[in-house]
Order: sequence, then structure tokens, then C-alpha cells
Amino acid sequence: MPNHWQKELRLLLGIILMASLAGMLTGKPLSFLLLGLLVYLGWHLYQLARLAHVIRQDGQDGPRSTGLWTGIVREINALHAEARQREDRLSHLKSRFQEAVTALPEAVVILEQTGRIDWMNPAAGRLLGIDCSASAGSSFQDLVRDPVLEEYLDNKAFEEPLVFSPPANRSKIVSMLVTSLGRHQQQMIVASDITRQYHLDSAQRDFVANISHELRTPLTVISGLLEQIQTGDSELPADKRSIELMQKQAIRMGELISDLLTLSRLELNKQPPAADEINVPELLAEIAEEARTLGKSTHHVIQLDIESPASLRGERKELRTAISNLVTNAIQHTPNRTEVRIRWQADKEGAHLSVSDNGEGIAARHLARLTERLYRVDTSRSRDTGGTGLGLAIVKYILERHGTELEISSKVGRGSTFTCQFPVESIIRPETIRGIESS
Ligand code: ADP
Repeated sequence: MPNHWQKELRLLLGIILMASLAGMLTGKPLSFLLLGLLVYLGWHLYQLARLAHVIRQDGQDGPRSTGLWTGIVREINALHAEARQREDRLSHLKSRFQEAVTALPEAVVILEQTGRIDWMNPAAGRLLGIDCSASAGSSFQDLVRDPVLEEYLDNKAFEEPLVFSPPANRSKIVSMLVTSLGRHQQQMIVASDITRQYHLDSAQRDFVANISHELRTPLTVISGLLEQIQTGDSELPADKRSIELMQKQAIRMGELISDLLTLSRLELNKQPPAADEINVPELLAEIAEEARTLGKSTHHVIQLDIESPASLRGERKELRTAISNLVTNAIQHTPNRTEVRIRWQADKEGAHLSVSDNGEGIAARHLARLTERLYRVDTSRSRDTGGTGLGLAIVKYILERHGTELEISSKVGRGSTFTCQFPVESIIRPETIRGIESS
């Protein structure tokens, strides 16, 4: 650059010298000097116009210049090129950021200081029920239209997240956080779908409340009877009856706690079940024998149909508990003399174990909820027969761990069937099953 300035100075001096010489020769020194300076000025104006053209072209390389302007144009071109690169980098970064935020399952909304939407991702549309195409520039509060949300945004107490159900999506529970973005006083709203967690938490709270109630009932009976005995009002035979009653309640509490422990062990156990070789026909014969003893006083008829010799791979203790629960239920929740049928079959679809009865059956509205913890069709009757309300929940967990589900079908007045369908993979030597089929 200094080089260009020196050249420029020399050029100016040269023009003045030439103009003075020509002026002295013609006797008009001032006119020639003025003419020389006008030419010099005109040339610079021309270069300025070219420079303005280069700048207008927004960084496109303009025509080559000479003299002092060569350096200036080159500098401007370099600055333009650098600005272009920076812009490219920024727009690349911006599009990557937007791609990432667009792919997020969380709703993200950027709000202007005025509360209008500057930008939002598609998840915000889905979760909060906002029409993405018409959202930019609209007021966020007007689009979501929820009084709880309005109050939260007006109060500006953003230390705690807001948990609410968006009016356009009432089945969802959303947790929303608002963060200030600082520079332009924008706000970023991040909302996530916590519906599943919320329901799990409330199921957990309900369960704790229900189980406390279940445990308190026998305790109340026991402490009431103990009080009576302590006051010494009752005669000896009555005391014996009281003791029997207390024993019954204590057994009930023990069963409840034992079922609770089984359930919690199953829930916490993330390990796959053991791969014992279970001789199912033998196991079912054992269970049927126990059931005959249990159903003796009620004259229940236990029938065992073994239609396949197939053995299963799984955890024997767990499967024994599951099948026993089904058989015990079939005795406890059906009238005297009911027929209970335990059936074992296998075919190319897998192995099928069913426990059916011709008892009173269960109304269709209860079927989907039967495996919920503490769900009973008839609470008082279930308690009388010694049920804890956890039996089918335990069966469900055990079967899930063994890759199968519990199917329940029932008709009021006809009876119920509980079926476990085991996949072919859990049958030991399934080729023997095909052999049976082909024979
Ligand atoms: P419980 O300890 O009460 O037996 P379960 O979870 O094992 O609890 O069963 C839940 C409810 O399902 C029972 O209270 C009963 O109302 C109903 N149930 C289960 N098995 C049968 C069946 N074979 N026949 C009729 N009702 C049944």
C-alpha cells in the first residue's frame, strides 16, 4: 500500500510538472495546471465509480484497477471473500443446528420479546397442537390458548417447569421450561412429553395408597381383637375364636407381603430367566395334585389333559408360581363343584398352556384390567377367599420374562380360560413336536 501511495504522489507531481511545462511553453500556466488537475480528478472519479460498482456487486470480484485503486479494490475483494466464507460457515452451522433441533422429540419454540413465535420445530406442532405453517409471527399464547400456560408466562416464575395438558392434545401431559436467550431478549421454550412417566408415577402413588389400605385392614382386626382380650370381657371360647380370627388375618398379611416381595423381585430383575429344562407334563401333574387337595373341601374337579410331551426352557420356579396362581384362582373364584381343566398342547405355532373353568365367568369390562396390581372383580369375595389381588400381576410379569403373554377369555355364566402361548423357541427339541404332527 505505501508503494501505491508513493507512485500516486509521483504521478500527481508528474502531472503538475507536465502541466506547468506545457503552460510555460504556451504562456498559460494556470490553465494547463487546472486542466492537468481536472484530468487527474476525473480519473479518480472514474475509479471511485468502479469501486462503487465492486461494492454493489456484493463481493463479486470487479474489474482490475490501476494505481492507488489496485490496492483498495484488492483489499475490498479480500474483505468480501472473507465475509462470504464467514457467512457460509454461519449458514452451515445454522442449518445443522436447525436440523438437530428439528429432529428433537422435544418441542422447541423461540419467542420474540413480544411473545410472538420466531421459530419452532415440528415436535412443537405435534405436542402443543400448533399449526407450523401459520405459526411464525403469531402470538404463542394465542395459538396454545391455555389459562394455566398464560398465567405461567405472565408470572415469569420460570425456576420451576410447568406441567400441563395442551388444549389441542388433552391426552398428553407436557413439562415445559422457559429459558431467556439474552441478547435480543428472546425466550426459548422447551416442552417434553411426560405422559408415560406421569401415569407411572400416579399408578405408583395409587399402589402405595391401596397396599397401605390392604395391610391396615387385617391390622385393624388384630388390634381390635387384642384390645377385647386385654379388657378381659370375653369368655374363653370367644377368645379361641378371636385367636383364630387373628391368625387368619396374620396369614393374610403374610400372603400379601410375600406376593408383594415376589412382584417387586420380578419388577427389579432385569436378568433373563434361568434356562432350566422344565418337564411340563411332570410339573403340571404336581400342580394338579396340589389343586385336588386345595379343592377337596369345595368339591372342585381337577382335570389334567396332557396332549404333548414337550418340555420348556425357562425358570422352573417362576413358571410353577404362574401356573399355580392360575389354577388357585380357578378354584378360589368359582363356585363349589366347578370343573377346572389344565391343558398342555404343542404344535408348529408353539406350546399352549391353558387353565379353564366352567364357573361364573368374568364380565368383558373387567378383562383388560385383571392383570393390574390389586384389581379385583369382587373385592369382598376375593378377600374372603384369601386373594391378595396380586396373583395375575405376578403371572403377567413371569410370562413377559418368558417371552409370552397371558390371554384371557371369559363368558359370564360359562366360565373363563387363561392361556399362555409359548413361542417355538422356548420348546426343547421342537423337532419332536413336528414328528408328532407328521405321524
Ligand atoms: P386375587 O388374589 O384376588 O385372586 P388375582 O390378581 O389373582 O387376584 O385376580 C384378580 C381378580 O380376577 C380376582 O379378584 C377375581 O375377581 C378375578 N379372577 C381371576 N381368576 C378368575 C377365575 N378363574 N374366575 C373368575 N374370576 C377370576
